[in-house]
Amino acid sequence: MRIAIVGLGLIGGSLALKLTEKGYPVWGISRNPATCKQALERGAVQGCGTELALLARFDPQMVLICTPLEQVLATLAALLPYLSAETVVSDVGSVKQPIVAPATELWPWFVGGHPMAGKSLQGIQAAEADLFRGRPYVLTPIAETQPQALDAMKELVVAIGAEAVLTDPARHDRAVAWISHLPVMVSASLIAAVSQEEDPAILELARTLASSGFRDTSRVGGGIPQLGLEMARHNRQALLTALSSYQAQLRQIERLIDGEKWDELLRVLQRTQQEWQQFPVNHPREILHNLGGGNGQ
Ligand code: NAP
Repeated sequence: MRIAIVGLGLIGGSLALKLTEKGYPVWGISRNPATCKQALERGAVQGCGTELALLARFDPQMVLICTPLEQVLATLAALLPYLSAETVVSDVGSVKQPIVAPATELWPWFVGGHPMAGKSLQGIQAAEADLFRGRPYVLTPIAETQPQALDAMKELVVAIGAEAVLTDPARHDRAVAWISHLPVMVSASLIAAVSQEEDPAILELARTLASSGFRDTSRVGGGIPQLGLEMARHNRQALLTALSSYQAQLRQIERLIDGEKWDELLRVLQRTQQEWQQFPVNHPREILHNLGGGNGQ
């Protein structure tokens, strides 16, 4: 399978590195010649250029659009003249509803994708071949999705060592609002709240004492601002619902502390300790394939 990757940033570059390592012929398209040079030097791609027209020469069987979310549909539209009849196209955007239906209308061989892996650095210099190993990779087929396109994407997910999880775009967006988009806003609020400490000496001491607990809870809030903005703009409703529920939980805990209801607070913390165990990321176990929804494939 000849694979083209448009946008050689963290995600696109990591996919390119892994797919090349697995023996696929991979070409890249970057807006920036310096990125192409770096991708070639790192052995991530066999060919690279700044023009989509390059694809006419490479004739890929699969194109992965790894640009920011805002550019996915425009990139797909610009790609259309260079696609062969059954070229599979996918994206990696963190929100699926605004993308999947319009993209499938443009190109029925489109399959929405979202690798659940990342880090707080951008660009090809941060790319790593094993970024996706063991991580869930969501595929969001809809009724109009070509089944062979979905099969090709499942093959890709296996090739990069990730675990395919199938669901529909709406369910995906609701789920990631809870476990990805809400944590970014909560974590950002935590950093903002701590930074408001009025006594500079206390703030300095707090920074000095901050250890693994603060690192774990603040990491995603200290990440790339554009990614947080992308999540909020494009998954606004699901994120607002999650934020509202979160605020209610926080208010409940505040009431218990204010009222010195220690037994009740202990019960809340015992329940959250139990609930925490239910997240496979904390206790890796086999990821459930096909969590419902999608087109049943
Ligand atoms: P990134 O490192 O900034 O890479 C994005 C790449 O897209 C850039 O390197 C650039 O590639 C290209 N690009 C940027 N602006 C563009 C524009 N206006 N038009 C066309 N291309 C443009 O970001 P990333 O983390 O890889 O994110 C890319 C996508 O992955 C996003 O849709 C995001 O939702 C998704 N995602 C990110 C993470 C994460 O944690 N980072 C996780 C899962 C999914 P060139 O310079 O080569 O053109």
